[in-house]
This record gives sequence, structure tokens and C-alpha cells, in this order.
Amino acid sequence: WDMFVLSFLERLFRPTYRKDDFVLGKKLGEGAFGVVYRVSLAKKPSSSKEGDLVLKKATEYGAVEIWMNERVRRACANSCADFVYGFLETSSKKGGEYWLIWRFEGKVTLADLMLSKEFPYNVETMITGEVQNLPKGLERENRIIQTIMRQLLFALDGLHSTGIVHRDIKPQNVIFSEGARTFKFIDLGAAADLRVGINYIPKEFLLDPRYAAPEQYIMSTQTPSAPSAPVAIALSPVLWQMNLPDRFDIYSAGLMFLQMAFPSLRTDSSLIQFNRQLKRCGYDLVAWRKSMEPRASPELRKGFELLDLDGGIGWELLTSMVRYKARQRTSAKAALAHPYFDREGLLALSFMQ
Ligand code: ADP
Ligand code: MG
Repeated sequence: WDMFVLSFLERLFRPTYRKDDFVLGKKLGEGAFGVVYRVSLAKKPSSSKEGDLVLKKATEYGAVEIWMNERVRRACANSCADFVYGFLETSSKKGGEYWLIWRFEGKVTLADLMLSKEFPYNVETMITGEVQNLPKGLERENRIIQTIMRQLLFALDGLHSTGIVHRDIKPQNVIFSEGARTFKFIDLGAAADLRVGINYIPKEFLLDPRYAAPEQYIMSTQTPSAPSAPVAIALSPVLWQMNLPDRFDIYSAGLMFLQMAFPSLRTDSSLIQFNRQLKRCGYDLVAWRKSMEPRASPELRKGFELLDLDGGIGWELLTSMVRYKARQRTSAKAALAHPYFDREGLLALSFMQ
């Protein structure tokens, strides 16, 4: 596969950028499989002092991540951060490392925004571009969260319709694009492209246990290995139907919805504790609610109240996403048609003024 991907990439990418074209700025992140920097082009340092690009130096999964970003750019560009270029950089390290370049979308992820005391009003300001002088309250918070969920599900639907499962959906991998005024996904290092079988064999150690659905594996264990590419193209719609791998992302997106609704579930430790509770309830959210509600803290009660607005359609949507069995979870497309989204979102609100 590496050989295939490499020769494909060589044909695809004319060498328009190389290592020396970039000036490294601030480090933005460091994971197990790569380091991310804010960078600018050496040729035009005046364009932006801080750099208007992002560079990821990736090791093992760099080739897959370049493949996924290229696919996304051609098929569903708005779902993810704007990908500029990717190449194998061989001059420094033995074996080389993959360099991936994106446009710098913005300074904050949904994780940053969610951990602020101002959430979700901080998001409202970013989306509408102005501070709204409206009374704070559950209705308004629900409308903001609804808008965020609509954007996330829209982006997910784009990926899933393309045949890509992200597999690492979490607030840390959702960037707010200041240019587009919407949320976009980043970090396709664990993604799978089922139409061509790229990264088809699940690498369960890539999955983040905090947001992973209980099945852990994307495909059932009855499909042990990837068929060769032509077979995969012929078979994958069938496999997709049988295994519904996209529902893995839906579960993770459901957990983000939960964290947005419940202020007390936004920290890592509280999410881990929630996961333990939910597992004890057999992954049944209704059972979890029954066990929690009698002794619920005001913050927890606030979450239930928010989801119970408008006859409980928020709660209904949440429970249709966070379910034990993948085939009982809603799809991104079906979720977008859910009555929870019948109301106008945030942007329409600001247009009306
Ligand atoms: P990792 O493998 O380290 O998780 P990510 O792709 O998630 O790598 O990127 C790490 C961090 O870099 C993100 O949390 C985000 O803060 C920042 N980042 C990544 N891509 C962009 C982008 N296109 N624009 C702005 N910031 C980005
Ligand atoms: Mg990440």
C-alpha cells in the first residue's frame, strides 16, 4: 500500500513546495504520530506575521492522512480544514516524514470553546460576528447548540457520503474556521476510506477511548481484512450497508452533543466517569437518566431541561445517536432531517435583524 500511495502521490503532486519553502512558527500540538506548527511561506513573510498555514510533520500515518485530505478536497471540501499540499520529506530523518499543509483556519477548537465559562455564548459571537444583546437562558443556549450540531452533522454527512469514516470525532478535532464562520473537522490520521479500502483494517489503538463507540472496531470482525482495491470498490456499498461504519462517528458526535448540553460533562474526567456509568447501564441513555435524575446536580438538571425543550426533541435526537447497536443509531443525513433542526438556526437569526 505504501508503494501504491507513494507512486500515486508522486504523480498527483507536482513538487511545488518543499521543506525550505516554510518558516516554522508556534507549535500548535503534538500527538503520538506527529507535530503540528503554524507556518508561513518563506517567499512572502509579510503576508502574515504569525503564518497563515499549518504544517503537520507526520510519521506512520502521514501517507493515509494525505490521501484522505486529497479525497476530501475533491469530494467534500467544506467538511474539513482546507488542505493545501502534502509530500514526503526525506532530507532530514531516516525513512523520512510526511509534511502536510493546510490553511490556518482559526485559533480555537470546539474543545477550547467548550471549556470556557462563556460556552455556548462564545460560539454565538463567533458565528454571528457580534455580541447579541439577548437575555441568556436555556432557549438561547439550545439554539446555539442546535446550530453547532447542524454544522457538525452537515460536515459528517459530507464525509460519509464520500465514503470516509473519520473515526476520531471529538471536540479537539473540530476547528472553528474564522473565514467560513463554521466548524470543520481536522485530523484525518485515523480515517478510513471504504470505497477504495485505504486504511480499511481497523487500527483500534488509534481510537480515542473517551469518544469511541462500544463496538470499537469499524467493521465487524466477520470482515477480517481489506479486499484488494477493485474488489473493494465493487463490494464496499454492500459492506457499508451491512456494517454501517459511519455510525461509529455518529456515536462520537452524540457524545459531543451530550457534553454541550451538560456543562458538568465537559471535562475529560467527567466524560470518562459518564462512560463508566453508561456502560453500567448497558449503554442505555434512558436507563442512565433514570439512575441519575433523582440525585442530579443543578448542572445535570440543566442539561436535561435543555434537551427536554420543545417536547423533548433534543433528548430524542441524542438518544438516537448514542445507542449500543450501530444499526440502531441514526445516520448523519437522517439526523439532519430530525425535528430538532426544524427551528431556524443562528445565522438566520442574525440575517433577520
Ligand atoms: P494531532 O494529531 O496532534 O491531534 P491535529 O490535526 O488534531 O493533530 O492538529 C493539532 C492541533 O493543531 C489542533 O488541535 C489545532 O489546534 C491545530 N490545527 C490543526 N489544523 C489546523 C488548521 N487547519 N487551522 C488551525 N489550527 C489547526
Ligand atoms: Mg487531533
